[in-house]
Amino acid sequence: MAIYKRLGIRTVINGNATLTRLGGSIMPPEVVAAMVDASKHFVDIIELQKRVGEEIAKLTHNEAAYVSCGAAAALTLSTAACITGLDAVKREKLPHLDETMKSEVIVHRHGRVGYDFAVRQVGVRLVEIGDENGTTADELENAITEKTAAIFYFANPSREHLWVPYEQAITIAKKHDVPLIVDAAAQLPPPENLWRFTQLGADLALFSGGKGLHGPQSSGLIVGTKSLIEAIAFNGPPNPFIGRGMKVGKEEMVGLLAAVEWYLNQDHEQLQQSYEDQITYYTAVFKDIQGVTVHRSFPSEAGQPMPRTEIQFDAERLGITRDEILQQLQTGDPAIDIAGAGANGVLINGQTLMLEEIEIIANRLKEILGNKK
Ligand SMILES: *Cc1c(COP(=O)(O)O)cnc(C)c1O
Repeated sequence: MAIYKRLGIRTVINGNATLTRLGGSIMPPEVVAAMVDASKHFVDIIELQKRVGEEIAKLTHNEAAYVSCGAAAALTLSTAACITGLDAVKREKLPHLDETMKSEVIVHRHGRVGYDFAVRQVGVRLVEIGDENGTTADELENAITEKTAAIFYFANPSREHLWVPYEQAITIAKKHDVPLIVDAAAQLPPPENLWRFTQLGADLALFSGGKGLHGPQSSGLIVGTKSLIEAIAFNGPPNPFIGRGMKVGKEEMVGLLAAVEWYLNQDHEQLQQSYEDQITYYTAVFKDIQGVTVHRSFPSEAGQPMPRTEIQFDAERLGITRDEILQQLQTGDPAIDIAGAGANGVLINGQTLMLEEIEIIANRLKEILGNKK
């Protein structure tokens, strides 16, 4: 912690999620070691990107893979790739699309996320389908025109029941020769998602390197077809086009490869069990405290099949509101960041917690509630 101390920056116990604003995730020593190793020599960066991509493709049962600088950059580069292919004249024009270029991207209106700015920055117009009552396959098919560059899905299992199912959408996409791309940035666990979408027939699936994978925070992973990955590299750094500001270092490339290896080697069942154990622990801690109830919340905020601890407070009885609790956790020492749950609850996410931090959160919560009584 020496560097943060020197800079006067407080470290935060993250019981919230793999949030970018808190630093994403913590890299395991294997990833850090790989990055340090990579940092010691010059290499041909294009060649390294290719080799790392081959290795990650093999590990994730995909045809091809590419390391981007985050999943948002992956959205931008994928969109660019769908528009330009390997056409240098089109690549030069981005983000100013002319009439010879595809200029529309189809998304579901329900579940639109802010990340679609990363798609729009290529100059395309989003064409929305469906609403909060659902979307029909016809709506998808009718939205496809000769201008359609791609169909994007922003994966979230909690919302997907209102969308055209992947299998059906992929059949329609293939019929019209339009790529279907799944933004699965936060969809790990389960690890199988690294190949599930592409095996269903999606052309590309995108992941954040700095969330579930525990890779470098500024890395992202694209897996999918060889031809699209080639078109992504064509638009990507170090080429001086739309992707030039999305530079990926040799350390991030090698670090992400190490992270994929590390992630696939984890005992995911045991990890799930450790989240269940946390719920059991918090239930025991608060069982005798009046006005506090502990529940198992499932799935996670991003819809991952992963349980969290939900603690509900009787604000009147305890004389403290949810926001006061969150505020005291955030400004206390150590600083603790967890999510709110409804008007009177909080959620503790095990995915980003270290073992000793579980108890620290319990003690701080008890302290905050105790001070109030
Ligand atoms: C986090 C996230 C992103 C952005 O990922 P970065 O790796 O931070 O660039 C994009 N899409 C979704 C759905 C996300 O959850």
